[in-house]
Amino acid sequence: LADGRELVASLIGDEAGAWDVAGRLPAELLRDLGARGLLCAQVPAEFGGLGASSLDNGEFTAHVGSICSSVRSVMTSQGMAAWSIQRLADAQQRRAFLPQLTSGGLAAVAFSEPEAGSDLSAVSTEITSSGRTAVVTGRKKWTTAAVYADVIVVFGRYGDGAGAVVVPASAPGVHVAPVENPLGCRAAGHANLTFDAVRVPAENVLGGTGFSLPLLVTAALAYGRMSVAWGCAGILRGCLSAAAHHARSREQFGKPLADHQLVQRHLADLLAAEQISRRACEHASRCWDAGSPEAVTAAVLAKYVAAAHAARGAAAAVQVLASAGATDQQLVARAYRDSKLMEIIEGSNEICQMILADHAVATAC
Ligand code: FAD
Repeated sequence: LADGRELVASLIGDEAGAWDVAGRLPAELLRDLGARGLLCAQVPAEFGGLGASSLDNGEFTAHVGSICSSVRSVMTSQGMAAWSIQRLADAQQRRAFLPQLTSGGLAAVAFSEPEAGSDLSAVSTEITSSGRTAVVTGRKKWTTAAVYADVIVVFGRYGDGAGAVVVPASAPGVHVAPVENPLGCRAAGHANLTFDAVRVPAENVLGGTGFSLPLLVTAALAYGRMSVAWGCAGILRGCLSAAAHHARSREQFGKPLADHQLVQRHLADLLAAEQISRRACEHASRCWDAGSPEAVTAAVLAKYVAAAHAARGAAAAVQVLASAGATDQQLVARAYRDSKLMEIIEGSNEICQMILADHAVATAC
């Protein structure tokens, strides 16, 4: 992954701002990163992946997040799709689907629906199977990377419980409507999806009928939360660097901005935000890599801490750069818009607070 960092930096160069304004990433860039296994680096080597630890993949995710949150968002979706397959699929399905995701194929994950956002128990998409065919009917909203995806992992009601099904984006009955003018991560390929009695082979349904919706969703979201958290740590690193450089080089009232105490306060807060977020991510990744039962809560904590700090930190960075950071293409302006959305996805701030409060009450001595 050390090579991956340099590669990503050179492939993205200084294009992230232009891609954000255009609302589109180059598909060949995504396929190149995918074929190198970099979009889902934790997939084991036996499936063509890099077999990275959560900590190493997290550091890499932060690096990408410090440069381009849209590319990082695509990584989050790809990794979440791969993790869902690793966790929910049987051995034959893993062998069929995971190598596609480490050889240039692109994936998205669809939970949210028009009537089921924070409350995923309201999901109404139906997956049915009879004989050798499964049928998927429903609507999904704001699916990241769906515009680029070859396959979509769709969560829905299945039998008495819940299921996830791998749906080729090209299957008849799949309709992909890009989200127009998103506030942030504008090039991440968000789309609203309709599945109109889409027929896929029955072996595309992951696992049996025995899953409950909370179990399925918790498994997939755990990866997504880790990835978003590390991405936010990266946003903070990028903002801290941009604010520090500007404060050193720009003079007002006869001295550098960095020598004005009220500007120093912004820089100190940014440094603290970056360090706190990073430590929370490291802790969560260590729990993940150790297979600790704490990993699920640690992922929620990391996501909550990093997203909230990134949103505040990006606002502080815009304040330090002022007019120099106040146009769409500036890194801090993108960070300001991107980080706000990170407080909404993979469990909004409020949903994270509820999970953490339940944990605190349950474990209080
Ligand atoms: P709502 O659920 O309507 O919530 C509105 C507000 O009410 C929020 O502030 C929420 O925190 C608060 N709220 C809701 N319930 C409670 C409660 N019980 N107590 C306190 N406050 C509450 N979905 C996917 O399936 N796949 C994706 O790849 C994906 N990518 C996304 C990318 C972006 C950039 C965004 C913005 C969204 C994405 N989503 C995706 C959708 C995302 O998961 C939902 O937006 C999120 O779950 C919130 O749902 P909602 O927008 O319907 O808000």
